[in-house]
Parts: sequence; structure tokens; C-alpha cells
Amino acid sequence: MNTVVLKVDPRQPESEKIRAAAEVLRRGGLVAFPTETVYGLGANALDERAVLRIFEAKNRPADNPIIVHIAEKEDVYVLAEQVPGIAEGLIDRFWPGPLTLLFPKSEAVPKAVTAGLDTVAIRMPSHAIAHALIAEAGVPIAAPSANLAGRPSPTSAEHVLRDLSGRIEMVIDGGEISYGVESTVLDLTTEPPTVLRPGPVTVEELRELIGEVEVHPAAKAEAPVEQVIARSPGMKYRHYAPLAEMIIVEGPIEEVCLRIQELVDARRGLGERVGVMATEETAARYRADVVKVAGSRRDPRSVAKNLFRLLREFDAEGIDLVVAEGLEPVGMGLAVMNRLRKAAGYNILRVGPDG
Ligand code: AMP
Ligand code: MG
Repeated sequence: MNTVVLKVDPRQPESEKIRAAAEVLRRGGLVAFPTETVYGLGANALDERAVLRIFEAKNRPADNPIIVHIAEKEDVYVLAEQVPGIAEGLIDRFWPGPLTLLFPKSEAVPKAVTAGLDTVAIRMPSHAIAHALIAEAGVPIAAPSANLAGRPSPTSAEHVLRDLSGRIEMVIDGGEISYGVESTVLDLTTEPPTVLRPGPVTVEELRELIGEVEVHPAAKAEAPVEQVIARSPGMKYRHYAPLAEMIIVEGPIEEVCLRIQELVDARRGLGERVGVMATEETAARYRADVVKVAGSRRDPRSVAKNLFRLLREFDAEGIDLVVAEGLEPVGMGLAVMNRLRKAAGYNILRVGPDG
């Protein structure tokens, strides 16, 4: 299959291009498109055969459910069997945007989408291209991140093509994304609601609006969580992983820097190529084969935006070991640490007073 690349203006999506892409979706094809979080791989959520092709293209395990994307808030009532009162304030405040809500599913949602679960995850993206495409398709769009299963999520059309070229009908190249990590997933079927995946809408913001909010242990991602029946099955798979081995060093920044340099020296001494994922404040201190700046320690949102691209770059540069600085796991820092710790397979070194 030849994957068509369509360049679309993210500020003013050209309507004839959006119509062409929507037509592919309506015919049961797969279209990757930019959202404000990462690039998604879309299919008509009401067409079970189209949804099954997503699993095939990504090599996605069949028991990992997919988020359904909508263009109008009202569409939630078609897909959810029941919308609790608490959802309305969340929808008013955070939609369109990077918050996914979990509801009991309606009959309209095919089993393949929810991997047999009786809940459905729904989000309304704010990105102009995503919004135009879903509206033009006229159907809800099932869309996981547009990467091969287990690889870092794509933050550019180039990343999508690297993983999925020849496996999907079309990629819309809409340039940069805004956040760089996937949406926050909030389960509204529990009391209190539970964050299953931390993301750009922070736990702190959710608590401010709705009061008590639980954070699932897998979302904190301090250690792998064994779950016989995972609440969100995606949580149990190795994720975001670079080909290189990866170690996260966490603790007070002075100790972190010293320990990282020790690690780098030791492993280079064994003939390995070692990369450091550093921050603006610390990068100049490291001597390694490659040092990359993820962003500023004072602004975890800047780190989120570069994270997945850097993981892919280390691989492209033939790095054997990536050592990364930890951030404080609050606000967007929690979303960053959740991705980093998973990418490292929970290979975490704690230094300093409680290390
Ligand atoms: P991604 O594939 O990158 O879009 O990630 C989607 C995430 O949402 C995965 O962690 C899924 O397990 C989770 N998810 C999607 N639908 C559901 C659902 N019905 N119940 C629980 N988790 C879900
Ligand atoms: Mg994904």
C-alpha cells in the first residue's frame, strides 16, 4: 500500500484536503492526523472492520482499547450509556482539549473499540485539523497514537511515516503538536473518579474543579503494577520504549548530576555509546557521546513537548544507553515521569537522602 502524505495548514485546514481525508475514513481506511497531544491513527469508530485494521497496522494487542474522538460535545450521549453529572463540568471546562473521559459504553460502540470492556473512552480534540476531519467524516473516530505498538508516540508526520509507511492509507502532515504527551485519562465510573493516565490536564486542575480525585498506581508509575484484570489494559504493556537501554536518575539535582556522570563514565569505559537526556539548567555539566536538552526543569511542559522526539533521536544515533534526569512528579511533571519511567522499563535509580 502506498501511504499518501497530505500537507495541511494547521491554522486554516484546506477544506478540499479535509474532504479527501474524511472520504478515506468513511470508506473504512486509516488516516493518521495531528492532534494537540500527539499524532493519532484514525478509523471510523462505528465500523468494526476499520477499527480492527488499526490493531493490525500498529501490531496493537487486541485487549488494549482505543479512545473515541468526537467533534461535538453532544456526541458523547450517543456513545455513552450514561453521563454522570460530574462529567458536565469537566466537559464544559476541558473540552475541546487533552482530557479523555471514561463512561459506561452504549450499544453504538463496537466491541473491538473497547477491547470487550463495558466502558468507552471519549475525547474531543481542540486541534483545528483533528476537529475539521472528525466533523467532515460525520462519524466518531477511534484513534490511538500513530506509532507501532511499544514505540514512542509520534509528534511529527515523519515519525508516523517511519513506523507506519505502507501500512495505512494516508498521513496528514499538520506540523508541530502543542503538548507532546497523550491526553489525561479520567475514569468516571469510579467514586471518586480515577486518573488512569496522567497528561496535560493535571491532577491538580481536576481536583480544583471536582474535588476528590484518585490517581491509579499505574499512573504514578513508580514501579510496574501487576494487574490481573487491568482497569486500563494499555497500562500493562511496555511503552514508549527506545531501542537503547534506559536509566532514569531521580533525586536532588546536584546528586543526580554527579551520579549520571559516574554512570556515563563507567559505561563508556565498557565501550558503550552513552547519551544523556538533560535539561537547560544542567546540560553543560555532562561529558557523554550525546547530550540532549529536553527542556527546562522549571517548565515540565517544555520537556513534555520534546520527550518522544528525543527518544527516537537517540535510537537513530545508535546510542546503547540513555541516562535521563528525573523531574518532580507534579503537574505536567507527573505526565513526563509516567512516560519516562515506562520507557525505561522502571529502570530507576534514586539518589540523595531518601535514595
Ligand atoms: P493510546 O493507544 O496511545 O491512544 O492510549 C489509549 C489509552 O487509553 C490506553 O492506555 C488504553 O488502555 C486507554 N483506554 C482506552 N479505552 C479505554 C477503556 N474503555 N477503558 C479503559 N482504558 C481505556
Ligand atoms: Mg499509544
